[in-house]
Amino acid sequence: MSARILVVDDIEANRRLMQAKLEARYYSVALVSNGEAALKHATAEQPDIILLDIMMPGMDGFEVCRRLKSNLATRHIPVVMLTALTDIDDRLRGLEAGADDFLSKPIEDFALFARLEALMRYNLVADELRSRGASTNRPEHFSDFEQEVINRPSNILVIDQDDQNATRIVGALEAIGHTAQNWKDANASGLKFKGLDLVLLALSGQKHDALKLCAHLRTLRESKDFSIVVTCDPEDQHLGVEALRIGAYDIIYTPLDMLELQARVRTQTRRKRYIDILRRRVDRGLELSLVDHLTGLYNRRHMLERLQLWMRRSANSGKPVSIAAFDIDHFKAINDAHGHEAGDQVLKAFAERLRTNIRPKDIACRPGGEEFLIIMPETAADMAAVGAERIRHAIGSRPFRLERWDVEVSVTVSAGIASHYGEDGLLADLLHQADLALYLAKQNGRNRIERRAA
Ligand SMILES: [Mg+2]
Repeated sequence: MSARILVVDDIEANRRLMQAKLEARYYSVALVSNGEAALKHATAEQPDIILLDIMMPGMDGFEVCRRLKSNLATRHIPVVMLTALTDIDDRLRGLEAGADDFLSKPIEDFALFARLEALMRYNLVADELRSRGASTNRPEHFSDFEQEVINRPSNILVIDQDDQNATRIVGALEAIGHTAQNWKDANASGLKFKGLDLVLLALSGQKHDALKLCAHLRTLRESKDFSIVVTCDPEDQHLGVEALRIGAYDIIYTPLDMLELQARVRTQTRRKRYIDILRRRVDRGLELSLVDHLTGLYNRRHMLERLQLWMRRSANSGKPVSIAAFDIDHFKAINDAHGHEAGDQVLKAFAERLRTNIRPKDIACRPGGEEFLIIMPETAADMAAVGAERIRHAIGSRPFRLERWDVEVSVTVSAGIASHYGEDGLLADLLHQADLALYLAKQNGRNRIERRAA
């Protein structure tokens, strides 16, 4: 997996060494020697990953990181800080500045490449979602609700067979408001993954094969919803690297520093929630373009597209297409008596009854307000009238129960049917015919179906 990497270091020898390592693995590399240049480059060139030295004259790495992470144009770019292994304070300051990861100097190749690949996997998902969502949303801008979701405490599963460790970890996570539970058995069945944000998996000193468990977790259907962070002894670094390769997102070395643990859990949770939000925006974007938000039926736009399609097919096949335009009788009175929210509940319940009383090939739509429309492909007017009659009966035969208001509301509906046979015709004409029939039904006393001769 290739990527564009920006290396920020004040010492030329360090920059050259890193460039050589990265280019040997076909990464494309840009070098800068100070913070100002790094910010400028990151904004203009949008590298995939930034490797950032901490100790630099002028603006240090923490400040550079803080600025990158507070700028909408650059905050999605993962930042890996280059620190001394022993310097736990640097790591904490880095995490607080928003760093995504750390590498200890001197930098070992396998650790470097394993982490870069883990970050690239994350980037790939995020980029894909960002580009799919880009047309409808400003991807880097979060609503208050989304921001609240990102910052919500996380739900963590700790898998460590060392009781003392596990208890300490659970305590440290709960102390800052997370929900954490310990689980010891290597048999993954019986575990509940719903709502889980993160699995903290110990690799060292375990009686089960923790790597195998890591791989198994990644194959679960729910696994796209949680991240895996592994802990391991520095002596078992090969296990940690292997875990990153098979899908873990981060390694924390033992002995665990609880502040580092808390900070990394926070980073991983935020990243995971960010992906969740992007994914939800994409799904919702697709749905919103087709579906009416309140009832889940097709919206007006999709109704027109589908109707046009069936009219074209009718012109080709000679088979009729019918529509039934429904309008709830005296809907305003329901709103006036019980309020708009209750009115919305009636619309939802109405839509549900509509949906369950049509044939599989019929298409239920809500063009707007208290109007509904069923497209009935390959159906003549007399059969369409039978279908509409079934719906009218389903609506009027028993009242709608509104639990929250503790009331029952009786509802009736009127409908007008129009049909289109074979020859070319205008969509607007067909809709107009149905409206005229509906008007007739209202005139003739409501709670009835009328149709226009084709
Ligand atoms: Mg330096």
